[in-house]
Amino acid sequence: MTKDYELTTCGLSCDLCDSNTTKLQDSAKYLYKMFEDPMFQGLILMFNPEFKKENFTGFKETLEILRNYPPCPGCQNRTDCVINQCAKERNVTTCGECEFLDLKAGICKSVPKQPKSPMMPPAPVFFQILSKRYKNWNVENFNALKKGERDKVNSKIEKMIKEGKSSRDLIDFSVNLFEARK
Ligand code: SF4
Ligand code: SF4
Repeated sequence: MTKDYELTTCGLSCDLCDSNTTKLQDSAKYLYKMFEDPMFQGLILMFNPEFKKENFTGFKETLEILRNYPPCPGCQNRTDCVINQCAKERNVTTCGECEFLDLKAGICKSVPKQPKSPMMPPAPVFFQILSKRYKNWNVENFNALKKGERDKVNSKIEKMIKEGKSSRDLIDFSVNLFEARK
């Protein structure tokens, strides 16, 4: 019997999200320490002569950004997310409960309104980008919940956690919010 994993407003899972843990920051901290060690640097240069000594500086600068990257406070506390704002306005807990979500087509049919933050696309557009990026896994989850198949959703999340996977393993990397905004 699996536990009930909570879905985020857009239908994903905080339990599988790398940003909701300190995995990213911890990995960066660990690697930063390794790259400070001249012996480890020597090993890298031995195995990969293409890697120039000056590349260590740039790489360490990137790791510095990553290790200080603020962890996400979790979907429930992300007041800056346009989907969360939209769901609040419509008085629904998730998009799956919203009258504007066409579950069959997997799209939000609400008329897009320009959000306050110019950095973010309107909620229906963001929902579409996320659905594409996560290969419609969020829509699949909402459809399963509608059919009363909560166990199916829980089992998939639990299986992925056991296998050490995260939602990053579900991503279509060709779908990029920054590219879409250009
Ligand atoms: S995109 Fe928004 S709704 Fe989806 S998980 Fe992140 S904060 Fe939650
Ligand atoms: S209007 Fe669209 S984005 Fe907003 S809560 Fe409903 S389904 Fe989600």
